[in-house]
Amino acid sequence: MYEDLKGKVAIITGSRRGMGRTHALMLAQAGSKVIVSDISQEDCQKVVKEIEKAGGEALAIKCDVTKKEEIDEMVKKTVEKFGKLDILVNNAGIVQFKTFLEMTEQEWDKTLDINLKGYFLCAQAAAKEMVKQKSGVIINIASVAMGQQGIGMANIVQYCASKGGIAGMSEALAMELAPYNIRVNVISPGMIETPMIDSVKEDPKMMEAMLARVPMHRVAKPEEVSNLVLFLASNASSYMTGSLVVIDGGWLAG
Ligand code: NAP
Repeated sequence: MYEDLKGKVAIITGSRRGMGRTHALMLAQAGSKVIVSDISQEDCQKVVKEIEKAGGEALAIKCDVTKKEEIDEMVKKTVEKFGKLDILVNNAGIVQFKTFLEMTEQEWDKTLDINLKGYFLCAQAAAKEMVKQKSGVIINIASVAMGQQGIGMANIVQYCASKGGIAGMSEALAMELAPYNIRVNVISPGMIETPMIDSVKEDPKMMEAMLARVPMHRVAKPEEVSNLVLFLASNASSYMTGSLVVIDGGWLAG
């Protein structure tokens, strides 16, 4: 499946753990050369070891997505090592719970810097390479908490704003990058079993209240989202750009 992913070069931000890790493992399994990138080089190296053990090819690069110089360096090292860059998965993100009335300007800025500005900076650095080769794929991970057609969630106003920003930004990027044969799509996951939802799981009442809104009544495994990453990264989705795909066990439909 997805034969064309063989030999492709993919950067996945925030891939030391959680969904980013499974995106990296599964892209490598499909034959892509993968850059495992996050703020901890040591943890990225562990994922690289896993990939190599399974027969794949990968490189660990420390990159804080709030730092433009680290992003530029990551793209430069990728091209030096593998000669090109075909796929970017903008995945790094944080969530911090706080009521709107108590949220500080610093807390707002921190989330927006990572979840939205980081996506912009990584997409721009990657696209500058992709434009040269006249092909590429950018996949931006948003969330069902993204505004308009999404789910309003209390106590994470800054997170919702960042994810809504990703949806809007991605449509604009799809318009500007289509002439260069670069496709840009968004995945909006519902509740996925990663360390990000640990604090929700610690509160069984909150967990049950959230699951009550999900028709499939369960959280997803990260691999279920990675399957979608593979589809959007491959030629199987060759006519898709500017699309937003929701993967949420029916949450939005409910
Ligand atoms: P996760 O396990 O917390 O993974 C996110 C990774 O991003 C972590 O390794 C984190 O490192 C890293 N990161 C944070 N700040 C960074 C920075 N400045 N530069 C580089 N990496 C950074 O969470 P996840 O659930 O896999 O989330 C992946 C993406 O899916 C996020 O964009 C998230 O918003 C989105 N999402 C998740 C869910 C869900 O239910 N899990 C639902 C919808 C959308 P640290 O741990 O050190 O911060």
